[in-house]
Amino acid sequence: MSRSVLVTGGNRGIGLAIARAFADAGDQVAITYRSGEPPAGFLAVRCDITDSEQVEQAYKEIEEKHGPVEVLVANAGITKDQLLMRMSEEDFVSVLDTNLTGTFRVVKRANRAMLRAKKGRVVLISSVVGLLGSAGQANYAASKAGLVGFARSLARELGSRNITFNVVAPGFVDTDMTQSLSEEQRKGIIAQVPAGRYAQPEEIAAAVRFLASDDASYITGAVIPVDGGLGMGH
Ligand code: NDP
Repeated sequence: MSRSVLVTGGNRGIGLAIARAFADAGDQVAITYRSGEPPAGFLAVRCDITDSEQVEQAYKEIEEKHGPVEVLVANAGITKDQLLMRMSEEDFVSVLDTNLTGTFRVVKRANRAMLRAKKGRVVLISSVVGLLGSAGQANYAASKAGLVGFARSLARELGSRNITFNVVAPGFVDTDMTQSLSEEQRKGIIAQVPAGRYAQPEEIAAAVRFLASDDASYITGAVIPVDGGLGMGH
């Protein structure tokens, strides 16, 4: 059955792989993008998740074209890495505003229709770093840990309404976000990963699609690591 799926930040990286996985399974997929040319094959809506008005407009367009969102994947996220001593308040607040409050904005707007439909699937993209911590990423790790408390609270609030809230915590994935690391940093990371390599975005997408499938109907409030063993189940 074709569902109305929204993937935030679905124009590249992990989000694009997730969008493709749902589209390949026959779902109607909307993606958000901020600038440039979005990839073909999806309903692409321009939306910056730090702006509630843009979130509202994006949902209106998706609802008109695909109907209410039944599966929401909150994937959009940023990093602004710096040691605490050098981290500005602006860099802290802007990472929280995108990764955590931005997720709140899109989840809250999706919830209305999910409550009415008495069903819904929400998957939040966190990070292994949210659970293990990471020097130089206090803002990012705090935002990603925040998603776990957020999802688990909503799983409790809305569990009886047939809406599931789960978190996927990827390890290191080969995308633009990790391209900025030096060869030395990449080697250092790989040395800590039992799988001995980075993930491909499609490997994250597979877990997301499972959590949104009928097979995962009794899974809510879970954190699923897709990290090659880096977090050892955390
Ligand atoms: P990319 O940097 O490749 O892509 C980030 C995506 O988020 C882009 O689509 C970007 O849109 C979007 N985005 C950022 N800020 C906003 C905003 N304010 N409003 C709307 N969209 C926004 O990252 P990845 O694909 O690697 O990461 C995707 C998610 O996975 C992120 O949440 C990230 O934290 C998480 N993750 C990534 C890991 C990795 O190793 N790569 C590991 C663990 C988690 P635009 O193109 O317009 O900038």
